[in-house]
Amino acid sequence: MPHSFRSLRDLPSQPGRVLVRADFNVPLDHGRVSDDTRIRETLPTLAALHAKGARVILCSHLGRPKGKPDPRYSLRPVAERLSRLLSEHLGRDVPVGFCPVTVGLEAEEMSQSLEPGGFLLLENLRFQPGEEANDPEFARQLAQLADVYINDAFGSAHRAHASTVGITRHLPLALAGRLMEKELQYLGRALHTPEHPYVVILGGAKISDKIPVLASLARQADVILIGGAMAYTFLAAQGIAIGDSLFEPEQTATARDLLQQSQAGKFQLLLPVDHVVAPRLAPGVKSEIVTEIPAGQKALDIGPQTRSLYASALAGARMILWNGPMGVFEVPPFDQGTLAVAQAVAATPAVSIVGGGDSVAAVHAVHLADRMSHISTGGGASLEYLSGAVLPGVAALTPA
Ligand code: AMP
Repeated sequence: MPHSFRSLRDLPSQPGRVLVRADFNVPLDHGRVSDDTRIRETLPTLAALHAKGARVILCSHLGRPKGKPDPRYSLRPVAERLSRLLSEHLGRDVPVGFCPVTVGLEAEEMSQSLEPGGFLLLENLRFQPGEEANDPEFARQLAQLADVYINDAFGSAHRAHASTVGITRHLPLALAGRLMEKELQYLGRALHTPEHPYVVILGGAKISDKIPVLASLARQADVILIGGAMAYTFLAAQGIAIGDSLFEPEQTATARDLLQQSQAGKFQLLLPVDHVVAPRLAPGVKSEIVTEIPAGQKALDIGPQTRSLYASALAGARMILWNGPMGVFEVPPFDQGTLAVAQAVAATPAVSIVGGGDSVAAVHAVHLADRMSHISTGGGASLEYLSGAVLPGVAALTPA
């Protein structure tokens, strides 16, 4: 059953100091934020807190600085970008203070002197070894900065760290932010109460990474479309020649089991019927469309017949969940299958949920992001959630 938790609606009318765990793990290029999607995603929560006069203290991790300060991973550039985005969003100048330490005296003084409606961003949580170790003392020091805790970092909810789990022991209220709530609503629906026909599209490199998700979603799905390298383990399991395509021999038993379930009528499992092949993976390499993969060739994308087959399967769906690319999306022309699936998903009136870096990038590349019902921000967290696991950061929220 989905776990019920408290949210921003349960925020006291005089919220005081609110510590928000955000996911500001953004890409930086020469000290500038090169993609601010994750920062933008937190604006609804931050605007709601601002409207209530909360004094907002923000914390996040960025990269993997391994428990000590490393200027390459400073969150300072995020404070600047957040200030600009909040100012645009709220239509007035909104400064975001930056605290050069994560916890301690300076952080306490800066959090105490925040005005109602003001914002302060703490330095990278992972500059402190206590963060990933979920150290109780570090969690207590963080908690000391605030009266209420809000978790809006769905992408980190599968990790039991001080800022996602430990801190909740030290504050009376641990609420889900708007983004966290939205993620859990959509993914919860995909996992427990999907609309039917329900089509699941899974792609990407490895079956082994996606087996728990496949097994869990197979209970609800009416149709499963397989693409990406994982398709070749399914084909090999049926004795079909796959040339030099990626293949996980130790996963053939699992693939056979899913094929059997599909033969028994539990769901329909569709595999590629044609492929884009090349002798090796390189940009501009000569490729060919085949229905049988010749020896010495690698299948790097689903072919045009498969794209139409999958588009027809999607056309009647009322709910669609998509994770993982249909081919080597990073290297054209092997991106075409993934782009075609993005278009096919957008063309349906179904509730559509997209997760995973490449599938999300594909939806953006064809400018169809606003046609999706929900684009998940947390790759690893969404896969764990969809496999039925209880995420520690969600379990730690105050129950409703
Ligand atoms: P994942 O992280 O599991 O979603 O996998 C994404 C990766 O799968 C991307 O880097 C793709 O290049 C890779 N991929 C997808 N299809 C293929 C394929 N047919 N052969 C090799 N790699 C693939």
